[in-house]
Amino acid sequence: KRIYFQAGPTTLPKEVMEQAKEEWDDFQGTGLNIMEHSHRGKHYEDIHEQAKSRMRLLLDIPDTHDVLFLQGGASLQFAMIPMNLISQGKTAKYVLTGSWSEKAFKEAKRIGSSEAVITGKDSEYRTLPKMDYVPSDSDAYLHITSNNTIYGTQWQDLNTFTHPTLIADMSSDIMSKPFSVSNYALIYAGAQKNLGPSGVTAIIIRKDLLQDHENVPSILSYAVHAKNKSLYNTPPVYSIYLLNLVLDWVDRSGGVAEMEVRNKKKADVIYNAIDRSNGFYNGYATPESRSLMNVTFTLGNSDLEKQFIKESEENGIYGLKGHRSVGGFRASIYNAVPQESCESLAEFMDHFQEKYGK
Ligand code: PLP
Repeated sequence: KRIYFQAGPTTLPKEVMEQAKEEWDDFQGTGLNIMEHSHRGKHYEDIHEQAKSRMRLLLDIPDTHDVLFLQGGASLQFAMIPMNLISQGKTAKYVLTGSWSEKAFKEAKRIGSSEAVITGKDSEYRTLPKMDYVPSDSDAYLHITSNNTIYGTQWQDLNTFTHPTLIADMSSDIMSKPFSVSNYALIYAGAQKNLGPSGVTAIIIRKDLLQDHENVPSILSYAVHAKNKSLYNTPPVYSIYLLNLVLDWVDRSGGVAEMEVRNKKKADVIYNAIDRSNGFYNGYATPESRSLMNVTFTLGNSDLEKQFIKESEENGIYGLKGHRSVGGFRASIYNAVPQESCESLAEFMDHFQEKYGK
């Protein structure tokens, strides 16, 4: 029994691990691991294309957008986006809702004209700020972070933002709920939360942004990667192989709409345990900004924190320690985390409160 709430690098569905194990030393009767096949050969190419089509199908990606699989994590996107998309006379605009958006903004400032136009920092990133930014002709783009992994906040509706060049870091909630891709010019996500293992980053980019620039190195150019169908250099074959299996699992499980139903049910169980505790537990995020992916909370009596972790582990529940910058606890409940794990956690929280809450 694995009751595991670690924020990363990866939470994989059990079925995916079983299939990967089965195919480990004999991929489709070839006697080789898929990693041993040429990345220009038919076996791998089929996987590469299948992974892209599954992304398209599951997220209903229109023909106006391309799907890329790159390396370097979401952090490389923090740099690639401004390198490719800030042109002369334009300014990149950032919405700051946590450490990851701060990091994205910091990279942009190193590269070109950039400005933070909205920030939620005043609330210690407990609540999402009002999104009242009015687009300007001089904007290179507007960058948001859909789910703030560390603070446990999440924009509740991804279809409400309007900007002609809207960019979103969806690393920690892509594939967790349906949204309209056509609202976005570029979406990126390090795979290691809902898509598979680290080592591959999914990018969904509107085709009009695929312009090559002389001063951008080829390996950092979206246009070069798109032209080469994400095979400009050796791709992370095994990561993409696993990502493809994860997408197949999402599809067989009922697709992204079903993921949302499950994720809401999972998150409810833990938020309810927090809310009925009368201050024994306190949610870090304000209720209207709560994330379905990362449930963050603290103990009213912080002296009990070590005991909480100790006893949770004695009960077979792992990975609850909060991010070092926020403290407290974080239950990351990505797509692959089952309902039963959330119920076990809520039950443990109730028992812990009964024991120490008097
Ligand atoms: N953006 C968000 C929202 C994240 O949660 C993370 C990592 O947890 C990153 C960016 C950084 O991703 P990577 O480690 O793939 O560079």
